Amino acid sequence: MNKLIIEKNIFPTTVEEKKIYETLFHVANGYMGTRGSIEEIPVHPGTYINGVYDVINLEHAEPLFGFPTKKDTIVNICNLQGLKVYVENLEVDFNNCTVLDFKQYLDMEKGILYRNTIYKDLNNNEITIKAQRLASFTHPNLFHFSYVISLNNKKSLKVESFITTKVSNYFKENDPRANHKKLAPIIMKGYSDNTLFSEIENSKIQIQIKVNHTSSNKKQVSHTENSISCTFENKRQIEFEKNIIISDSIRNIDVDSTPLFLNGEVLKKEQADYLKKFWEISKITIGNDEQLEKGLNYNLFQLEQSRSIDSFGHLGAKGLSGEGYEGHYFWDTEMYCQPFFTLTNPKISKSLLLYRYNMMGKAKENAKRLGHKQGVLFPWRTISGRECSGYFPAGTAQYHINCAIAYAIIMYYRTTDDKDFMIKYGLEMLLEICRLFMDLGNFYEDKFEIHEVTGPDEYTALVSNNYYTNVSVKFDLENLIQLSEELSFTIDLQELNTFQKAYNSIYLPVSEKLKLCLQDDSFIEKPIWDLENTPEEDFPLLLHHHPLELYRYQVCKQPDVVLANCLYPQYQEAEYINNSYEYYKKITTHDSSLSPTVFSIAAARLNKKKEALDFFGNSALLDLDNLKKNTADGIHTANMGGCYLAIIFGFAGLAIKKHQLSINPILPETWSHYSFTIIYKGSKIKFDIKKDKTNIVCDKDIEILINNKLETIKGNKSDKK
Ligand code: BGC
Repeated sequence: MNKLIIEKNIFPTTVEEKKIYETLFHVANGYMGTRGSIEEIPVHPGTYINGVYDVINLEHAEPLFGFPTKKDTIVNICNLQGLKVYVENLEVDFNNCTVLDFKQYLDMEKGILYRNTIYKDLNNNEITIKAQRLASFTHPNLFHFSYVISLNNKKSLKVESFITTKVSNYFKENDPRANHKKLAPIIMKGYSDNTLFSEIENSKIQIQIKVNHTSSNKKQVSHTENSISCTFENKRQIEFEKNIIISDSIRNIDVDSTPLFLNGEVLKKEQADYLKKFWEISKITIGNDEQLEKGLNYNLFQLEQSRSIDSFGHLGAKGLSGEGYEGHYFWDTEMYCQPFFTLTNPKISKSLLLYRYNMMGKAKENAKRLGHKQGVLFPWRTISGRECSGYFPAGTAQYHINCAIAYAIIMYYRTTDDKDFMIKYGLEMLLEICRLFMDLGNFYEDKFEIHEVTGPDEYTALVSNNYYTNVSVKFDLENLIQLSEELSFTIDLQELNTFQKAYNSIYLPVSEKLKLCLQDDSFIEKPIWDLENTPEEDFPLLLHHHPLELYRYQVCKQPDVVLANCLYPQYQEAEYINNSYEYYKKITTHDSSLSPTVFSIAAARLNKKKEALDFFGNSALLDLDNLKKNTADGIHTANMGGCYLAIIFGFAGLAIKKHQLSINPILPETWSHYSFTIIYKGSKIKFDIKKDKTNIVCDKDIEILINNKLETIKGNKSDKK
């Protein structure tokens, strides 16, 4: 196995560089995460819990009827990375030291972040800091840190390690994708010798943070109202470990059983064992492109760090790495990230769906707020289930989030055969989703149409018959009708007939003249934005042009029709799919990080190997190379999931059909091979795709459609063309 290590050897000097490292090197375990700050010179050493938020006022200049008045926002709960160093009782000012050596690296096989720095201070003392940390996957409430801090002379050394809840959130004034207000919502409720008790100002969620320092050096613990610190003294060298246990009041977990005193070596061993199992299934190998392979696997590791461990949380657009998009959950999870879990760890996928199931009540209220008489509308962005979108044209109007959830349910079921889930939760969700669409749309002449919605492309809003939305609804209706029959789920006959009628007649806008799918009823009639002559510094367009200007042109932030044809090719002719790809490619800016991987899939399915690889290449390194220039605010989890989709559904051409798996692989010219493993209906299947051959190894006998030919793979070993 290649070493899965991401490293940086250049000391970050600017605030921006430090913030980028803090994001890239955050450690998280799905329950909580902390940014990868260099302890002695932190910029924003935030710590977050999945599903934990505050509620703040959502102000509108003109508050029309039904606008949401409150929104959730992720909370930075503490800084648990506090570190000060004193030589001869004088605090070292690390900002004015010379850096003699630096290395920070994340070992993804061990699940440990390492850092070594050697500084020289103004008095010529050389101070070495060696630090390690992990967010335990086996004890999700536990962070572990360990330090060796040494001096090159015999002067006295003192180190203070502290945690504090005196923190505020991250904010950025001129970017709609970040928070705009500086908030410090942590209220202290008390402390004991090793614990800080706090409460979040408005949501009233309570947090407990326990800390334990162990060292063979002399130590002294002290408190303030909102901090606990531990001071060590020695000559030359100080070594210590710090374990931190965090819990919150929305979960009912007995944290006292989490081993606060567990030794670092034991934790590291458990962490490595956990990740060995993770990589056995999740690792993707790409022969002949190490950089891409590393970028891709880094992205998969980040998905694992970001996904909730229970259905109290979900998977945020920035994971647990920062506060961009206020920690909100979007359609990103279901459409981009979830397939990775469905195919490698279905338990996580189920838990993500249960989070949505638990929000059904709020989704019903949300639908009512918008005047719907039936069904559920899941919020465009949320943590607690309330709609947190303040700008409905590019927010709430994206009804297609319902379709993303339906798609995730259907894909989960087709991959796992989990009937129990479908009967208890899945079908009810599908039914309510379809009910909403029946209320949203209307029959006009002989067609079922949907008006006043926004598709995935946020540079076009509030349209009639968005192709993506309509074709997704067709898929949802078809599956609801079939699955209710397959699983004997009762739907009132009259209602079922209406579903069937809508399915048969849903309108998919196309131009027969151009042999093209149309993004919506009016898109093609608008002028085309002159992308060629748009200056570089105008991108992303959303930061430099009024939305109304963008809406009046044919210009896309991200794929709309192209995504629809990747997901639902069965409803369209090959010629239209090909023409649509070529047409929309020319007018897409990729201003959204959700864009390039979808184009990579579309290109791969059209056998355009070079284009597929070019689109993919950028995406795999999007955060590692800060290509969107906002990695400082957090990772882009949808793009990370999108990279997985590009390999599995793009290059490999895997499709999960109703009762069958099919594969139609292509191999980019520059790769010698690529391989990946999935779990399908309980079987572990490993694919290795070479130039003229696809090797498939499965632990049970299985039939797979390979290049449209049905083949039987014998359990254990097989070598199929
Ligand atoms: C994209 C949305 C996405 C959101 C969060 C926006 O820029 O246009 O599709 O859900 O970011 O990642």
